Amino acid sequence: MSNRKLINQLIQLQELIVARIQKKASMANPSLDALDANIKLLSTDLPMRVKSHLNDLLKKNPEAMVPIVDGHCTGCGMEVKSSLINEIHHAKELHRCLNCTRYLYIPSEIVAREHASRVYGEKRQVGIARFSTEPLMVTPLTGTTPEDVLGQLCSRMQSQGFVEDGSQLLDLALQREAIISTAVDSGMAFPHVRGVEGGGLSMALGIHKKGIHFGGPGRTLTRIFFFMVIPTATSAFYMKLISGLSQTFRQKDVREALLAAESEEELWKIVVRETRTTIQ
Ligand SMILES: [Zn+2]
Repeated sequence: MSNRKLINQLIQLQELIVARIQKKASMANPSLDALDANIKLLSTDLPMRVKSHLNDLLKKNPEAMVPIVDGHCTGCGMEVKSSLINEIHHAKELHRCLNCTRYLYIPSEIVAREHASRVYGEKRQVGIARFSTEPLMVTPLTGTTPEDVLGQLCSRMQSQGFVEDGSQLLDLALQREAIISTAVDSGMAFPHVRGVEGGGLSMALGIHKKGIHFGGPGRTLTRIFFFMVIPTATSAFYMKLISGLSQTFRQKDVREALLAAESEEELWKIVVRETRTTIQ
């Protein structure tokens, strides 16, 4: 297996492992069969030494494969020598951080705008307002495909200055969905793009009143889309955000309130009100 292929495979595997944790946290009786089958499939042809080191890393932390940002390992913060970064760029070999031994890779080129952090920086925000804002509420979403729906969320992220390039963001979000759908039961999905450089963790929320097929279990339609852009430095926040959202929106009446919102302003008010105690 070429190293480029090996690295991509490890990144996909990492996504599946995080998706599994997320699913377990957000559903009462999660069906993990499809995820487990995919994890197994991606693990089988890994070289033995990689597989065993990966398992050791995963015992301690779900983030076993981490990007290098600004010359530092995002797993432990240790500086990575430029000669090593160079080698990783050329993907000649699989490299580990000398300090925490996590596997290292160079993240995608997508850049979140500084604007986003400035929006949050002006006033010390609390709760969900640390991650989102009324202009990132999108209702109603239109269209019938994942591309339609994610396209509207990505272009909103761009028009509001949260990312430079909405169409690149869309490509990455669709690539992520292709690994395995982020839809859970109860008509919700948590599409996302990881490994973004700069900016803060930001979330757009889209409501599709009729629902679309987004790869949810069975023939479930997905109506509520929590779309997140996750800079590498914020993955710990991301897990907290996911667990807060799951706790809040596990309740049917709360989901119904979202679906009934008649304006983006109203949608934002509901989100703020309902997450007051679950997202600090
Ligand atoms: Zn490290």
